[in-house]
Amino acid sequence: MAKKKIVILGAGYGGLRTLRNLQKAKPDAEITIINKNDYHYEATWLHEVAAGTIEANDACFPIKDQVKGDTKFIQDAVVKVNKDDKTVELEQHGLISYDYLLFALGFESESFGTPGVEEYTLPIADIPSTKRIREHIETKFSEWKTTQNDELLTIIVGGAGFTGFEFLGELTNRIPHLVKQYDVPREKIRIICIEAAPSVLPMFTKDLANYAISRLEDRGVEFKIGHPIKEATPDSVIYADGEELKEIKAATFIWGAGVRGSSVVGASGFDERRGRVMVNANLTVPGNEEILIIGDCSAVMDPANNRPYPTTAQIAIQQADYAAANLVALINGQPLKDFVYKPKGTVCSLGDNDAMGLVGDKPLKGYRASVIKKVIDDRSILMLGGIGTMLKKGKFQFYK
Ligand code: FAD
Repeated sequence: MAKKKIVILGAGYGGLRTLRNLQKAKPDAEITIINKNDYHYEATWLHEVAAGTIEANDACFPIKDQVKGDTKFIQDAVVKVNKDDKTVELEQHGLISYDYLLFALGFESESFGTPGVEEYTLPIADIPSTKRIREHIETKFSEWKTTQNDELLTIIVGGAGFTGFEFLGELTNRIPHLVKQYDVPREKIRIICIEAAPSVLPMFTKDLANYAISRLEDRGVEFKIGHPIKEATPDSVIYADGEELKEIKAATFIWGAGVRGSSVVGASGFDERRGRVMVNANLTVPGNEEILIIGDCSAVMDPANNRPYPTTAQIAIQQADYAAANLVALINGQPLKDFVYKPKGTVCSLGDNDAMGLVGDKPLKGYRASVIKKVIDDRSILMLGGIGTMLKKGKFQFYK
């Protein structure tokens, strides 16, 4: 009898961790992993690539090094899943058939329909988009010398969420280098973070959120909290200040205000909301139990508050462990296990040597939190790429 085919879509946290587990479990199946790039990137490091505090290559490693034995890797972009025919449509390779599918295509930037955001802002979404941010800031700073136009030195960050804070932390670390490199006056640089919600970082205690704000304010960041962004234009941002609309002219507008699941979810006709599918407790899709969805394309209810868990790498990796075990169970005709999330805490980086967060449920801030953050980053590389990759790419060499 022909072997069953397991196809994995996406080599991010969820997809690559599932592959790793499956290769260890060795089910009697053909395994194929499909990803649009030939590299995996650590999405949780994208803010560092965007700010230019690490090189893009530091956050990436080749997928082929993780593909063992008979496993096949196809580098291509997924267009959609044809659930009824059990095929995946790829941009270059046409149709690929599957018996069991692991869908882990991750996140995309979400504009929430705000006019001008898609056209005029720079999202923190993947490696090419973050390289563009770095290059854009460097170009604008380099142009200041000839034009003396101060708008070239104004950077707006849309959204004071986790991504916004982590990016601001890195950017404020990079500014002294940019000042030197492009010979621009520090006092003319403005970094403004605009947030619609009345408070920030609701996943942390008030004390930790206030710490993050004050650390960044000390480094020159201006916060406008409770001010919804109404529009982005080619050279400005328009936001609400009570009933009034205000405009800030700026050459750089970075969008970190929201993400959604992959648009391939909608293109494939899944029952979705913002690219996320409410999966069964065992991570299969209701009505299509041969498909498992994990990571940012999935929604799993938190029984504590009856709302979906936030999308994180931590949850994607934990889901992958269940998904791999459940794929093996499907091949062997055994019962599937329900996913149980075990939160381990969250640490938000505020640049090199500074961070804050919850380790377990213990609040931590400053240098010690930043060391924990580096340990978390290294553990992620270890879980996805093994010890060799961690030794090459890990941040342990930066522990001071
Ligand atoms: P991803 O890791 O996004 O991987 C998806 C993969 O699919 C990628 O390789 C992509 O190239 C590929 N792909 C996408 N579309 C296609 C297509 N059409 N065809 C083929 N391949 C495709 N989470 C935490 O837990 N802790 C943190 O500290 C943290 N920090 C973050 C900081 C930043 C700046 C950002 C942006 C996110 C952060 N997150 C953090 C969230 C975390 O990165 C995501 O939740 C996580 O990446 C989701 O994992 P995933 O496996 O669903 O998808």
